[in-house]
This record gives sequence, C-alpha cells and structure tokens, in this order.
Amino acid sequence: MASTTGSHPDGQPQTGPNKLAAAFGRQLSLASRSVHADDYTNTHPAVAPPMHVSTTFRYADNPEELVPWSDFTPPPAETSYIYSRLKSPNATRYEAILSSLLGGPAVSYASGLAAFHAMIVFLNPKRVAIGGGYHGCHGILKLMNKLKGLEKLELEDESDLAKLQKGDVIHVETPLNPTGEARDLAYYRKKADELGCYLTVDATFAPPPLQDPFSYGADIIMHSGTKYFGGHSDMLSGVLVVRPDRAHGGDGKPGWLEGLREERLHLGGVMGSLEGWLGVRSLRTLELRVMRQTENTQHLVDWLVAQKKAGGNIVADLVYKIQHASQQPEASEPDSWLRKQMPNGYGPVFSLWLKSEEHAKRLPSKLFLFHHATSLGGVESLIEWRAMSDTTVDRRLVRVSIGVEGWEDLRDDLLQGLQALDKELKN
Ligand SMILES: *Cc1c(COP(=O)(O)O)cnc(C)c1O
Repeated sequence: MASTTGSHPDGQPQTGPNKLAAAFGRQLSLASRSVHADDYTNTHPAVAPPMHVSTTFRYADNPEELVPWSDFTPPPAETSYIYSRLKSPNATRYEAILSSLLGGPAVSYASGLAAFHAMIVFLNPKRVAIGGGYHGCHGILKLMNKLKGLEKLELEDESDLAKLQKGDVIHVETPLNPTGEARDLAYYRKKADELGCYLTVDATFAPPPLQDPFSYGADIIMHSGTKYFGGHSDMLSGVLVVRPDRAHGGDGKPGWLEGLREERLHLGGVMGSLEGWLGVRSLRTLELRVMRQTENTQHLVDWLVAQKKAGGNIVADLVYKIQHASQQPEASEPDSWLRKQMPNGYGPVFSLWLKSEEHAKRLPSKLFLFHHATSLGGVESLIEWRAMSDTTVDRRLVRVSIGVEGWEDLRDDLLQGLQALDKELKN
C-alpha cells in the first residue's frame, strides 16, 4: 500500500496538507478527508492518534537553533510547540481535519461561545446585526455592550440593518436554533457588501456536507463543535474558519488566521487535549453520522406532517405546528435559495409546538428513546422542553435533535409517547 502518511523514523512529517490532493490530482471526497486530512501531522507510526497531555514543550537542544520570541513575525504557530495555550498537538490535529472539511483554515476554542467571543473581539465592530437564535451569543453581545458600548441591531428589520456602518458585522445563524429553519445567506452577503460589513455565519446546525457558507462569501464560519463535530455529547469545543483569501496577510500586515491565533493566546480559551483527541475520533464519522441523522429527521418530519394533514389521529390532535427548514415554502421550489443552500438535506433539528404548555412539559417524560436534555448533534436523539433553558421561546415548544437510531423506532416512540400523554392529560 502506498503510504500517504507522514510517519517517518526521525519523527519529521514528510507531507503537508496538500499532499493528498496532489497525489490524486483532485480534491478527495469529504468522507475520505474526514479520515485522512490530518495524516500529514502524523509523526509517529501508531495508526490511532496519541494523546499528548503536556502543557510545555522542550526547545531545541542546539543553542544555534534558538530563536527569541521577538524575532518571530508572526508568532511561530505553524512550526513549533512551546506552551499549550499557544498551540497543542491534539487540538492542532482536530484543526487540520476541520480546515479541510470546511474549506478554510480553522482555529479551535474551548467552546462555541469562546469562539463567538473571539470572533467579536477580533473583528471589533461597533454594531452587530443578529436575529433570534442561540441565546448565548446574545449574552456575549451584552458583555461587549457593557465593555465598549457595542450596539445590537435586529437582523430581520430593514431599518435596523440600514444603521450598520463599514466594519460592522452581520451575524447569521442558519439553520436557526431552536426551529431548524434556514436563512438566505446570499441575501445577507449582498446586504453586507452594500453596507461594507463582514458576514459571519453560525453554521452549527448544518455541518458539512449540508451547507457551505464560503460559497456564499461568508468571512468567518463559526461552529459549536460541541454539537456535530463532537457528535457524542462528550466534549465542548468551538471553531472559527477563516475565508481563505482573508487568512494570510501581506504588506507586513498579519492575516486573519495569524490575528485570531495571536489573540487566542491572550484570551486563553483553548481546547483541552482530551477534547482535541475526542474531536479527531469523532470527525472520522462526521459524514456518516450527519447524513444518517438528516435522513432520519426527514422521514420523521414527513411522517409528522402527513399525519397532521390526514387528521383524525394522535399527532393531528396534539401537535399544533411543525418547524423545520424542509417545511419552509422555498423547500418545494426547485430553484429556490433554500434548495441551493442546502442541497444535501435540511439538518437533524426541528421543533414541535404542542397543544398546550402542559403537553410540551410532559411529552419528554413519556418517551423511551429520546433523552430529555438540552444540546443537540449527538448520536442519541434528544428532546427538550425548550423553556427549561431558553427564556425567550414559547412554552409550547419542544426542540428535537435526531440521532442515528432507526427512524421507525423513533417514530413508534413518538407515537406511543403522544398516546400516553393524551391518556394522562385526559384523566
Ligand atoms: C450550542 C450552540 C452554541 C454555543 O456553543 P457551546 O459549545 O455550547 O459554547 C452557539 N450557537 C449555536 C447555534 C449552538 O447550537
């Protein structure tokens, strides 16, 4: 077998990130890159990645090779390990895979919110237009308002958008938490261009291969890696991915990649080694998981919608509304922005509105396969009475995150759960 890895007796990597594409004369598939994009970081013959727990790394033995920090411009993030708040091997390996999968250099953080914070600190806008969506990002903007008077504007209000000025940020979450409905990235790119703003995209709900925000000109893509990249509900992480033409500087000015890395060193919100290691393990199966979760979800949503339409059954009686990108009107128009933006499926999260607050509160307790818990993106299906963790949503809403179980089992669980709920509330 031809070796495509960098394993080498003296521990020196033989290859760079472009080696595989060069060998094949084309970009490999997402599935192959999930398994091999980090091969070039492999300096040990072990097939499975090692875990490094060291916080500090030896300098060169030879005094002639020592370069003082102030002689590095920019800091030596690419070439050497010094201290793990700057860079550490497991997180670097996780970033190597993400850079390939997302189409631009990736910088990892301790959590999704640490990534969002770092992004706002780096771009340093005076105003951010943001809509509904993940409530934690609003919490960061509130902190920035306290620190420097940053103004929050409403994304879906044209007169608010008109207040944006050059250097401000349009932040679009799509699909949206908690409904799973999508927003039109091309529309917001156009707005950003008109106003001289940056477009940042929280793409947590649609990881590859569902959506590519760079093909719509996003300046930075953000993900909570806690969700689909981790995929097993056992690690926190956040990721910023820089549009390639912004990554590297010129004319003595640092690029965004160097800038983000340098600021991360001081913000300190880096991933731990265990999380980096778990992240690499998880990304191997990203496409398998995400496609299975998306297909499961579409089967379930289609079934729920059909039941509701037919009427005279338990779904029609207890479920008042079903929200998911697949139910937006544009999903049934062949050339719509939505069909183009999400060609491979509409993502594994949707929301159900139950008949009453009491129904929504009690449904999770009637299910066997869905854990009643917050978060999403893991292999196990979750359902959450959203009022438990979000003060801004209607109390009749439950958010559903579909896992990799058999969809018919999930359907039957929902069916028996709704029946049990009906019985309980009628008595
Ligand atoms: C979970 C989530 C976040 C925050 O990520 P953490 O890893 O929990 O900090 C941000 N945006 C969206 C859309 C999320 O779902």
